[in-house]
Amino acid sequence: MTGPQRPRIVIVGGGFGGLACAAALGGAEVDVLVLDRRNHSLFTPLLYQVATAALSPSDIAEPIRKALGRHRNIRVALAEVTGVDAVAKTVHLREGEDVPYDHLILATGSDYNYFGNDDWRTHAPGLKTVNEARVIRQRLLLSYEQAEATGDPERRRALLTHVVIGGGPTGVEMAGSMVELGREMISRDFRRIRPEDLRVILVEAAPRLLMAFPEDLARYAQTYLEKHGVEVRLNCAVKDMDAESVTTAEGVIPTGCIVWGAGVRGSEAAQWLDAPAAKGNRLLVRPDLSVEGRPDVYALGDTAAAMGEDGMPLPALAQVAKQQGQHLGKALRAKIEKGTPLPAFVFHNRGNTAVVGRNAAIFHFGKRKLRGRVAWYLWALVHVYLLVNPQKRILVTIQWLWSYMTRQLGARLIDETPPQVVPAASPAHNDTLREASAGKV
Ligand SMILES: Cc1cc2nc3c(=O)[nH]c(=O)nc-3n(C[C@H](O)[C@H](O)[C@H](O)COP(=O)(O)OP(=O)(O)OC[C@H]3O[C@@H](n4cnc5c(N)ncnc54)[C@H](O)[C@@H]3O)c2cc1C
Repeated sequence: MTGPQRPRIVIVGGGFGGLACAAALGGAEVDVLVLDRRNHSLFTPLLYQVATAALSPSDIAEPIRKALGRHRNIRVALAEVTGVDAVAKTVHLREGEDVPYDHLILATGSDYNYFGNDDWRTHAPGLKTVNEARVIRQRLLLSYEQAEATGDPERRRALLTHVVIGGGPTGVEMAGSMVELGREMISRDFRRIRPEDLRVILVEAAPRLLMAFPEDLARYAQTYLEKHGVEVRLNCAVKDMDAESVTTAEGVIPTGCIVWGAGVRGSEAAQWLDAPAAKGNRLLVRPDLSVEGRPDVYALGDTAAAMGEDGMPLPALAQVAKQQGQHLGKALRAKIEKGTPLPAFVFHNRGNTAVVGRNAAIFHFGKRKLRGRVAWYLWALVHVYLLVNPQKRILVTIQWLWSYMTRQLGARLIDETPPQVVPAASPAHNDTLREASAGKV
């Protein structure tokens, strides 16, 4: 005789929100299955440091299996979800049989929005995956090498002109890091090219940088970047690009490396459910994070549009996803174990921060605003604290201290087989999955 089957909770996505939700269900009287097309969870706030060779990918990525290994009621499977049948209560996979669920949590995050120009992705990778960060690192490091080797001054100028598109936190952090680290490296280790040959251009279509921050902090960031050699071009939309140039209304910029950091759009969750989405393709959810008209389906993090107290969608931030994951995990547990109705999610803002350069960051929390060195210490402390486990915290702290004291970068590797930009759902990606996930989930 076997007892009644325990409720099956399927979580799609093992990022900030999915992991927090799964952990909150650890040890509960439920069977949890976490499906992710990657085997690792990524600490995206430090991805720009992988792209600029300050950190290695493994410093900021944690296998999902390892992160959840201690919870015996949680299974993890490497699988790409391609759809949901909300009537039959099953999840479709690209490879393998449908997966049944009693409760489904969609935590599939977001992707960069190329505003209908998806072919630009190959020329201007964003910073969403380890692979993209490696492609950018490869292109940056190669551009220095090729510039050092060429005798043609025009080609050298083009190779050493790097363009970052998008003046949000990612673009600002990337541009600041590219100019500072690039010039340090060139002045120390190169002989023909000079630090002042390196140009980093930050292109933003809006009239100012960092729209999510107060204007005075954004102005501080812009002044700092300009003082340290970044050319900031505002009100400047990108019209076209190819592998070696970016075209804006102001003209054509020949370049050796392009980075995309403009705008994100939610995953396909709304399309899977044929449910309404808010701006940026974010699936509309009720205050308790459930999806209207789709029984036992929930969404959280970047892929969901949950309204804040001001009636606006909560921002696509790791702290929102994490808090929502913890909230929903606990709430579902209480519902299943004690029949408690699901409470509404309330976001507690812990502040917003962005780093601008060495010893310079901005920090905004309620009415409090910080800039400069103090904000930078705070930024570093917060980011080390938020890393997934003590091992990563120690590793990253040691590397930062070393780079801070020596101004040396630890991960200046040019891959012998260059990494390629692979859209997450591409056939190449699926081949990798096929090899990795033998059998059913
Ligand atoms: C470069 C960068 C810097 C950032 N810096 C900050 C910062 O400083 N502070 C901050 O608060 N936020 C920051 N963010 C935003 C933050 O990363 C996101 O808000 C957060 O990751 C959202 O969490 P999530 O769980 O919704 O999605 P994610 O963490 O992106 O996780 C989604 C998961 O779903 C998986 N997945 C997606 N589709 C499928 C599918 N079809 N099948 C199976 N699995 C799938 C993905 O592989 C991924 O593991 C940054 C983002 C970027 C890109």
